[in-house]
Amino acid sequence: MKETLTGIIIKETNYSETSKILNILTLEHGLISVISKGSRTMKSKLRGISMKMVYGEFTITYKEKGISTLIEGSLINSFKNIMNNFSYMKYANLCVNLVRNVLKENNDKRIFICLRDSLVKINDGFNPEIIYYILSIKLLDFLGVKPDFNYCINCNGEDIITFDLNIPGAICSNCYHDTYLFQSNTLKLLKLFQTIDISKLSKLNITNIKVMEELGYFIKEYYDSYTGIYYTIK
Ligand SMILES: [Zn+2]
Repeated sequence: MKETLTGIIIKETNYSETSKILNILTLEHGLISVISKGSRTMKSKLRGISMKMVYGEFTITYKEKGISTLIEGSLINSFKNIMNNFSYMKYANLCVNLVRNVLKENNDKRIFICLRDSLVKINDGFNPEIIYYILSIKLLDFLGVKPDFNYCINCNGEDIITFDLNIPGAICSNCYHDTYLFQSNTLKLLKLFQTIDISKLSKLNITNIKVMEELGYFIKEYYDSYTGIYYTIK
């Protein structure tokens, strides 16, 4: 059945002498595999749209099980700024690779929206490290291990002063003993990242280096301990 899908290519693998297998994360069907026949030859009309990070419309012969076939495609956003900026590219790749890992656990269609919005914002010049952190926090929900920053893990109290990564859980002032104290802004941001709509971000600057370090530390520790996914920052 011929269908036109909106998607982002998250992986390309060479196949036979001239073709590629593309893993496309689509709005309509989640992750699909597509063969792009002849796309490695210079004259192929599929060449330009058969690469990792291409965000476009793909007309394919869709097979629910097995590999679909790419017929034609057109770009929606070429992510020109990402392609021309080393740092943007680094974080865009980290976003795509993390999404790929999450998709092994959950093929929820909303993951496409999260990735698309993240790449668009990186391309628009938002701090790519912050976007990566926001995406990382949002994806925890799809892994079934969303952290709760609102209530104390011991007593359900709301006067949260830190988060104990060993438990894991938020800790209130009454239950606090000796665990690491996160900056209150770090905890506020982590909570905000869970609910923020990435596409509606108009500005978000974090100038406090300590807070940025703690965000990276929290997210890496949380992923490494509770998701089975090894989290990469650099
Ligand atoms: Zn408590």
